[in-house]
Amino acid sequence: MSAIRSKKFDYIFTGGGCGALSLLIRMIQSGKFADKKILLIDKEPKTTNDRTWCFWENGNGLFEEIVYRKWPVVNFYSDTFSAPLEIAPYQYKMIRGIDFYNYCFEIIRKQQNIETTYGTVRFEDSKVLVDDVVLETNGSVVFNSLYTLPPKENGIILLQQHFKGWIIETEKPSFNVEQATLMDFRVHQDYGTTFCYLLPLSETKALVEYTLFSENLLSPAQYNDGLERYIHDVLKIEAYKIIDEEAGCIPMTNAKFNFFEKDRYNIGTAGGQTKASSGYTFQFIQKNSEKILEQLQSGQQLSQLEKPKRRFHFYDTILLRILKEEKLRGEAIFSQLFERNKARQVLKFLDNETSLAEELKIISSLPTMPFLKAAIRK
Ligand SMILES: Cc1cc2nc3c(=O)[nH]c(=O)nc-3n(C[C@H](O)[C@H](O)[C@H](O)COP(=O)(O)OP(=O)(O)OC[C@H]3O[C@@H](n4cnc5c(N)ncnc54)[C@H](O)[C@@H]3O)c2cc1C
Repeated sequence: MSAIRSKKFDYIFTGGGCGALSLLIRMIQSGKFADKKILLIDKEPKTTNDRTWCFWENGNGLFEEIVYRKWPVVNFYSDTFSAPLEIAPYQYKMIRGIDFYNYCFEIIRKQQNIETTYGTVRFEDSKVLVDDVVLETNGSVVFNSLYTLPPKENGIILLQQHFKGWIIETEKPSFNVEQATLMDFRVHQDYGTTFCYLLPLSETKALVEYTLFSENLLSPAQYNDGLERYIHDVLKIEAYKIIDEEAGCIPMTNAKFNFFEKDRYNIGTAGGQTKASSGYTFQFIQKNSEKILEQLQSGQQLSQLEKPKRRFHFYDTILLRILKEEKLRGEAIFSQLFERNKARQVLKFLDNETSLAEELKIISSLPTMPFLKAAIRK
């Protein structure tokens, strides 16, 4: 652990990624925590563009000035339904990891009351150890974003959203910068639910991601093959060069994540902010950070933080079960969702923001039997 000046802290962040920085920046900007000592711990400094976040948003969020690209229209493609989808009042946005980290740390470095240290955190019950040194946490609020996989218990479904992406550059103009592709199912489904994203950065540059919702990861060659075939067979691009790449794996699970656990408050993916049925996390983290900030400012107990609505967990579990047991293909579910509902309603539903009446309408647009059976089992 690199040296730290203070012995005691009011707030300690174990993990300094999206969840921690989203909350910390809000705390700084509120101006209400300038007299509090805050420690941010990560295993390493953020020096690379380790991920790209995409999400939809209505209006401008806290990180609007670092939005790298945004698109008013998203495309959906499958064998049964293909269309450009108007998503107003939302826009589909992209933030590059490195821009996010640089933006946050530029603000954090100016705060005298915040220290950043690097080392490996581990927990022994309520104790926090950094590089095997026990940290003084008496009287501190600990926000944790270190994630561990849930134990394989009865009823727990664990799928992965795993993907590999390339930023490719073409010689000739090949992309429409006004439209991103949210899901393109025109790829083989031999390994489970598989689709591609296409995020144009310019007429000659785009991020292409080959994505699966399944239990098992693929070999590196299989992701590369999926990307090559999509670019060649579907996008019909012959000549291109790969200028960057990213890969990742996001847990899709119905396991419940406790906000308060063993004297610490879990945030980010560790705090259940990853939507189980889609893998989207960035906007859930932003909304949760707002709620935590309000709670801190109002002086109310953090443990009283409003819990997420349980029915969305129920819907996610049903969808995960159907995907896991392959009762219905992901392609069929998403095609019907987008074909039979307004895209903005689907996005609102995936944001857990619809009313019960809106949900019933959406659910009734899906094939009834597999959903009913999975619901009865749940
Ligand atoms: C490649 C990739 C692309 C993604 N794209 C999207 C997207 O487009 N849209 C979306 O909504 N979501 C996306 N996600 C999912 C989600 O938004 C991110 O994973 C997000 O970063 C989660 O925030 P977090 O704070 O929970 O975790 P992280 O941002 O990963 O932060 C956890 C931090 O803890 C640190 N850490 C881990 N272990 C230790 C340890 N033992 N000791 C000290 N520090 C430790 C890590 O270095 C990291 O900085 C993506 C995820 C990945 C991996």
